[in-house]
Amino acid sequence: MRFRRLKLSGFKSFVEPAELRIEPGLTGVVGPNGCGKSNLLEAIRWVMGESSPKSLRGGGMEDVIFAGTATRPPRDFAEVILSAHDSAGEELEVVRRIERGAGSAYRINGRDARQKDVALVFADAATGAHSPALVSQGRIAAVINARPAERRAMLEEAAGIAGLHVRRRDAEQKLRATEANLARLEDLMSGLE
Ligand code: ATP
Repeated sequence: MRFRRLKLSGFKSFVEPAELRIEPGLTGVVGPNGCGKSNLLEAIRWVMGESSPKSLRGGGMEDVIFAGTATRPPRDFAEVILSAHDSAGEELEVVRRIERGAGSAYRINGRDARQKDVALVFADAATGAHSPALVSQGRIAAVINARPAERRAMLEEAAGIAGLHVRRRDAEQKLRATEANLARLEDLMSGLE
């Protein structure tokens, strides 16, 4: 998968709509302290389905919405659009939008989607909100200090198999529900005999 464009509106310090082209190869973001470099990386994580406000340096999910300054009123919503080419070269556009009091909504190529669908699209392409390809401040030290189990999770994410764990959990849940239904059916049948 190759990321091509990032559009932000009302996301953290990006109050005005902003659009960035992401060129092939390694991308670095440079700028003075507090100009919003980390916010950009967080926007990429957020649109890929990040569900932990803490990992976006916030207390609650709505903290990603522009909170206003001395001269500008706060916004009611934040939206991030990530355009990419998937591994087959097809266009992929993922939109995440959050409105105050209404939570997050996602769209994949114009269709409503769930957080889980979005996370799976990226996990299958060996990327995602926790991808080791997104290197933020302190991340290198975190990789060095990680416990073996955490390091394994990073490797699985990089290998594109993280999505399989989610699918296995889903399949196990379905299996348990089916087993419970079967047991109930057997009870009913023995009651009829
Ligand atoms: P540094 O180099 O110091 O790490 P940085 O360039 O990574 O900084 P960020 O941490 O991305 O900068 O941006 C911080 C700025 O974003 C701060 O000025 C902060 O006030 C602003 N900011 C964060 N969340 C919001 C929000 N919800 N509404 C408005 N501004 C916000």
